[in-house]
Amino acid sequence: MTAKQHVVVVGSGIVGASIAWHLTREGAAVTVVAEDIGGVATTSSFAWINASWGNPELYFHFRRRSMAEWKRLARELPGLPLSWCGGICWDLPPDRLEAFAVEHASWGYGIEQLDRAAIAAREPYLKQLPDSALLVAEEGAVEPVAAARLLLADAEAKGAKFVNAAVDGFIRSGERISGVVSSAGIIGADHVVLAAGAGSAPLAASVGVTLPLGAPPGLIIHSRPFEKRLNGLVMATDLHMRQTADGRIIAGSDFGGTDPGADQDATASALFAKMKDSLTESDRLSMEFFTVGYRPTPKDGFPIIGNCGQSGLYITVLHSGVTLAPLVGLLASNEILSGDADPSLASFRLGRFG
Ligand SMILES: Cc1cc2nc3c(=O)[nH]c(=O)nc-3n(C[C@H](O)[C@H](O)[C@H](O)COP(=O)(O)OP(=O)(O)OC[C@H]3O[C@@H](n4cnc5c(N)ncnc54)[C@H](O)[C@@H]3O)c2cc1C
Repeated sequence: MTAKQHVVVVGSGIVGASIAWHLTREGAAVTVVAEDIGGVATTSSFAWINASWGNPELYFHFRRRSMAEWKRLARELPGLPLSWCGGICWDLPPDRLEAFAVEHASWGYGIEQLDRAAIAAREPYLKQLPDSALLVAEEGAVEPVAAARLLLADAEAKGAKFVNAAVDGFIRSGERISGVVSSAGIIGADHVVLAAGAGSAPLAASVGVTLPLGAPPGLIIHSRPFEKRLNGLVMATDLHMRQTADGRIIAGSDFGGTDPGADQDATASALFAKMKDSLTESDRLSMEFFTVGYRPTPKDGFPIIGNCGQSGLYITVLHSGVTLAPLVGLLASNEILSGDADPSLASFRLGRFG
């Protein structure tokens, strides 16, 4: 019998948790090393699961495949806090909204045109209604920290280990990366997966790998739990909102969050006032907190997934990590354990940056 492959996953956000869960399911011995349980960007995410506007066709299909993988994951791991609530959108100039609808419908996205009456029927608490909007019924959202924690807990129940520690660097055996140096000591491994979000760049740099990453900030407000006011995702003009599983209405001027500016409290207050004003029967609605997160964003906007020229080291850094976590977890775990390159990841290698 061959020994189990031991994989260290650095990071416990939605991406690291999904990779750890898939690796464990495939029979690997997994150790997750992270400074928290549930992630950094993941805790500040709007967590819209989508294949919406602004993406080329190949990336659209990749995202849509991951939407289906969320459904597969929910069957395999009951209790994931997912909601296939659908999204309505009118946050584009009319000509771009029309172009998006035509293009994405031709790619197979289930887009429906709603008139004012249909919008009001779907979202009866919206105060300011547009003449028309697009509905994508297949879109949804997940409570990302709860999902990451559930994935980790299930992986641990199946034998994975969690080590709460900071990783400072890597160890080598010959040419191969063979473990991590952490505040809990050295942890050896057959493979190391770097799923450390924005923290991936300095760790990769320590072994000579440059990750061209930006980390734009995004502020999201969270109300206190409230009665049902939104039935699905609402992408209104400069105001993207959804109601979470525990009843909080969360919003940004964009799903990627509002630019927090110099005065984050003032930005959050103004955004909350706008959100409150967009809903009827919201007098008692109050803000509980806001988050400012940093999206780990590769310079061209597309994920970086795969080996990176350092044998033994596999890197996964992406924004839209919530949408893509189940598919990336599935494909990355297969590549790591089999050693076979998956053609559907060919466009997402670090090597494209030259
Ligand atoms: C405001 C905002 C809105 C967003 N909206 C959406 C959206 O609507 N839809 C969508 O799909 N995506 C969205 N995203 C993006 C998405 O949230 C991220 O892509 C995703 O959460 C990244 O997950 P991750 O696990 O890679 O990283 P993170 O959640 O950042 O986790 C990184 C992990 O690495 C660990 N770590 C880092 N460095 C070290 C170290 N040196 N040692 C040990 N551990 C380390 C951290 O402790 C953490 O556990 C949004 C992000 C933000 C900020």
